Formats: sequence, structure tokens, C-alpha cells
Amino acid sequence: MIIIMKQGTTHEHVDELSRHIERWNVKANPIYGEGTIVIGLVGDTGAVDKDALMLDPQVENIIKVQEPFKLANRKFHPDNSVVEIAPGVSVGGKKLVVMAGPCSVESEEQIIDVAKHVQADGAAVLRGGAWKPRSSPYSFQGLKAEGLELLHKAHEATGLPVVTEITNPAHIDIFMDKCDCFQVGARNMQNFELLKELGQTRKPILLKRGFANTMEEFLMSAEYIMAGGNENVILCERGIRTYEKYTRNTLDISAVPVLKRMSHLPVIVDPSHAGGIYWMVEPLAKAAVAAGADGLMIEVHNDPAHALSDGAQSLTYDSFHHTMNALRAVAAAVDREI
Ligand code: PEP
Ligand code: MN
Repeated sequence: MIIIMKQGTTHEHVDELSRHIERWNVKANPIYGEGTIVIGLVGDTGAVDKDALMLDPQVENIIKVQEPFKLANRKFHPDNSVVEIAPGVSVGGKKLVVMAGPCSVESEEQIIDVAKHVQADGAAVLRGGAWKPRSSPYSFQGLKAEGLELLHKAHEATGLPVVTEITNPAHIDIFMDKCDCFQVGARNMQNFELLKELGQTRKPILLKRGFANTMEEFLMSAEYIMAGGNENVILCERGIRTYEKYTRNTLDISAVPVLKRMSHLPVIVDPSHAGGIYWMVEPLAKAAVAAGADGLMIEVHNDPAHALSDGAQSLTYDSFHHTMNALRAVAAAVDREI
């Protein structure tokens, strides 16, 4: 349920009404937008007396929100949310944020070299996996804690904030001061215990869509994190599983406008895991920017042919350079910047 307040309602009035509403055992979430004030009610609103609330002279309207996601719902928060990953690096504003780096952190030299190259071409965030959720137990599983240390070294060498995947809630403590944003991978989108624990932190969460999940399930996973008090969620479309075998996944480009309409959270696209092959990354990235994505996550490797994971879809430095230039033109066409 959301309560839309009349123009010019004072903060004091909103606070007083919120306290009044909370007597019905629901949480009142006031949101002050540009020219609009709404109070979102979260919890079991069955006991809320709508008729009594309508008697408040400052209440314009009360709407029942049908969707099961509330905090992630655009109705609760009409303006776009902007998630700050580090000072000067925010996702959801006019400037697009490109997160780039290898699938896996492989060595100190490798991650620092990749970080410097992607930074030179305009990436604002370094990506790199330390714990790798692989389909086969015999594939490279990541450098784990050492990988996290190496990412931190690359951060110290370049100043780039770091996003890396967390697979286990027990690791949160060691990730805390080694990264700037937690990545929840497609395979863990519905790992609810992980989501709940991440909701207790205040660090940004890059939540990837599971390859067989609907938009509503995706937003319900965001809701799990937000319900814990962490509203810094960035959604990432990375391709879904269809009958098509030519591509690794099928990039669901419609997820971008749909999510932007359903939710106020920023949406980015990962064209690397979607296409699964290097030459598809640039056209898919262009499509994502044209469709309104707030950023991209792109795999870049110093030597794709010898990468320990996802080499086939990784861009070389040269192709990343070319892609970034091409994206600048598309961004300008849709009134965005990189
Ligand atoms: C990754 O980013 O390297 C990754 C494993 O992605 P996804 O969870 O989308 O498969
Ligand atoms: Mn990968």
C-alpha cells in the first residue's frame, strides 16, 4: 500500500502520520521525491484502516500495490535510485558505469595489468572473480581469499573500486574491506540466506538475474536484500536460458525497459555471459545502452586464449578499446555519457 501526500506536506506531518501508521504493525517508509511525497507501507497491511487514513487532510490518495515486491517497486519510489559504489562512481545517473575485468583473478600481475588497461579506456569499476561458481567441480575454482587480496592490490594500484562475487554468507566478513560492491551471481540469485545476510550490510549489491528467473522473481530477490535495510541494489541482466544453443544464453534486452518500469533500481547488462563469445560483446553492449541500461559489466582479459575461465567471451585490450569508443557514440545518441 502507498499513501500519496498532497504537495507541500511538511516533514513533521509525514513523521506524525508514519508513527500513527506503525501502530498497525507495518513499516512506514516515507520517500521524498522531486515534488512528490509518498509513504510506502511494508508488511501485512490487512489491519490498516484506509478510510481513517483518507480523513487526513494532507493525504491525496491511497493505492494498493498488487505486486509482491514493495521496496523495489517504482510505485514506492517514483524517481530513479542512484547507487554509489565509491565516491564519484554512481550507477543510475546520466553517466553510464562500465565494470570491466577478467572472469577470474589469476595473478597479481594479471589483475593489475587488466585494471590499468580498462581504466585507461574509461571503465569505472574493476571486476574479477575470486570465488568462481563453476558448472564442473574439475574447473578452476578461483584463487579465493588470495584472489580477494589481489583485487585489493589492484584497487590500491589504480584507485578503481572493485566488484567481486560472493557465494557464501560466511565470507561476508572477509569481503567487507576488500571490495566496494558484492556481486551475487546468477546461480545464487535465489540463495535467500545469502541475500538476507547481504541485506544486513550497507555495501552495494550487484544482483544478477538467474538464467531461468522471471522479472518478478528477480525483483523479489532484490526485495530480500532491501527488506534487511540495504537499499543499494543494482540489477544485472546477463542472459537467460532458451532453446537457442548458438549463444551461451539469450540476452533478454526487454528486461531493461521492463525492470526500469517496474522498479526504481539501476539496471546494468552483462553482454559477455549473455553471448558467450567475444565478437558478440560489442553489439550486445550497444543494444543495452540504446535500450536504457545504466551500465555494463564486460569481461576483459590480458590473454583470452589462456584465460583460466571464460576466455572465449573475454575481450582483448584492443577490442575493449574499440568497444568503449563505439559505446560512447551510442550513449550520446540516447543522452547518456560514459
Ligand atoms: C561472472 O560474472 O563471472 C559470472 C559467473 O556470472 P553469472 O553469475 O552471470 O554466470
Ligand atoms: Mn565469467
